[in-house]
Amino acid sequence: MKFRFPPSPITALPILDSTDAFPVRRVYCVGRNYAEHALEMGHSKREAPFFFSKPADALVINPETINYPAMTSELHHEVELVIAVGQSGFNIQLENAWSHLFGYALGIDLTKRDLQSEFKKKSRPWDLAKGFDQSAPISSIVPFATAGKLEEGDIELSVNGKMRQQGNINQMIWSIPEIMVELSKHIELQAGDLIFTGTPSGVGEIEKGQTVNAKLLGLGLDFKLI
Ligand code: MN
Repeated sequence: MKFRFPPSPITALPILDSTDAFPVRRVYCVGRNYAEHALEMGHSKREAPFFFSKPADALVINPETINYPAMTSELHHEVELVIAVGQSGFNIQLENAWSHLFGYALGIDLTKRDLQSEFKKKSRPWDLAKGFDQSAPISSIVPFATAGKLEEGDIELSVNGKMRQQGNINQMIWSIPEIMVELSKHIELQAGDLIFTGTPSGVGEIEKGQTVNAKLLGLGLDFKLI
């Protein structure tokens, strides 16, 4: 059978110190994984993790600019560690979880907070508040083979040079292995899957013309909203 139009290209992340790329399959995100962020969003700190997803083509790799999206007047930044799955697994066991990991990236879960609040109030799905075009700026991947088990590390985001979010991976309520265990109870994780692991406190609004700068593990993101 012949395609009526060309299939969409595969989103692939550059791998540091390699000429290879990481082909993306699916993008999952963890909600509320840092106690202080859960509190700032009005929730208690002891809650089982929950997940949502973004389309893989919402990723924008090492962008210089991001277009301010339509249908919002309250765009929020959420800086996050992203984990990349390298080996498939259903019902992954805690002691094996690290072996399913390919590496790490730095991502931003851009969120239309006004739309999300409206959807929440009406008990409707949030998809369009989270999974819109260009909603997931992301860096290259640093392989697990280079970075090892990530149990701590500073993660930060500033807007126009002013620090907004400053956290540490060791503040995550659910660790990297625990996230893989929990998500793989629902779906078979596959090589190519990415998981945004939640944001530290300090989320806030960004406006057209502002510059966003984020850092983690020697990875950086630096773009302007236009
Ligand atoms: Mn998030």
